[in-house]
Amino acid sequence: MLSKISFFLLAAAFTATAQPYDLVLRGGHVIDPKNQVDRVADVAIRDGRIAAVAPGLDVSQARRVIDVSGLYVTPGLVDIHVHVFPGLENGGILGGASSVFPDQVGPRMATTTMVDAGTAGWRNFARYRRDIIDQSRIRVLAMINITGVGMPNFDVEQNPYDLDPEATAKVAKAHKDVVVGIKTAHWRPPTFLSVEKAVEAGNLAGVPVMVDFGYFLPERPYQEMVSRILRPGDMSTHFYRWPAPLMDENGKVAEYLHAARKRGVKFDVGHGSGSFHFRLAEPVVRQGFWPDSISTDLHVSSMNSGMIDILSLMSKFMAMGVPLQEVVRMSTTNPATQINRPELGQIAVGAEADVVVLRLEKGKFGFTDARGGRIEGAERLTCDMTIRAGRVMFDYNGRAGAPWRELKIRYPDR
Ligand SMILES: [Zn+2]
Repeated sequence: MLSKISFFLLAAAFTATAQPYDLVLRGGHVIDPKNQVDRVADVAIRDGRIAAVAPGLDVSQARRVIDVSGLYVTPGLVDIHVHVFPGLENGGILGGASSVFPDQVGPRMATTTMVDAGTAGWRNFARYRRDIIDQSRIRVLAMINITGVGMPNFDVEQNPYDLDPEATAKVAKAHKDVVVGIKTAHWRPPTFLSVEKAVEAGNLAGVPVMVDFGYFLPERPYQEMVSRILRPGDMSTHFYRWPAPLMDENGKVAEYLHAARKRGVKFDVGHGSGSFHFRLAEPVVRQGFWPDSISTDLHVSSMNSGMIDILSLMSKFMAMGVPLQEVVRMSTTNPATQINRPELGQIAVGAEADVVVLRLEKGKFGFTDARGGRIEGAERLTCDMTIRAGRVMFDYNGRAGAPWRELKIRYPDR
């Protein structure tokens, strides 16, 4: 009988021999905050899953080896605030701020998981699941809007009779494989009603809530929402939107924010086309109050204005002094944990192979906020390659290709 020690020696010898990997990313600098990996290593993929992460893997039996030296390899990015349910009644959310199809944009933004933030509500969610979520190669999850019809325009989100926690929780539970939260947004009346109803639905369905607090009114102070109404794990998105009361009269990060964070409330970027201002972000970030999660609030008008994509946002935070390793954490394991999907946003052996290759460009770059405010930075992240469940979905430099003269394929004759 094998002793325990000889069994382990055998296992070690086995893993050291050549493995029939499908794909190996060789020589990149792997950053995987969840597993404390921050070094040069090879990443091997087999059957759509991570097969090995280690320096100097034997790749003689690998079907394809791609040299990514000089580049960074990170988990596929997890963007927990996007709008990807196109074709919603009345022309999509908020006129020009309309949804995009996940597969049109996700791969080139290094995003392998997207969470639609309340574009649909319980009345129309099943249709979006069928038409978008189930048809996309990018992993699409969703937070259901506490308003039954979601956000075809601002006005329908003001209907107090359509805020239905029971119906919302029922749909959330029926689709619990893809529904990860409840969303409320754009509420205008001087009450906390939509936030309270969303929390009620969150309690019934056992999921967190994400709040776009809309307008700042003295009758419903933001401080009270994050201090009292939101539960641990709930998320305040559009965190750096002027005029949120994030600083005290001395320009210091307000004490109630530290207390809310300690209580477990999460602060999400949700940049969008109107919800991120350096006037708030730079002083707050420079004082060390960083976001828990970097998200885009992706839609047609945000991607074509100062937001651009999640990599631009990561670069913006680096320009404000946040280290690369931390912006990767805020775009991978942190958001995955916030939506209770801790298996995502990491490169672990056995996990689904959602991996991206990023280039860190050095130079002089400019970044703008939602009002055209500008800062400069010396580094910018761009997407070189996106792999979702082991499949190359975006390949900016043709690394997965072969010189065309060597291709062993038969071309059809005309
Ligand atoms: Zn949004």
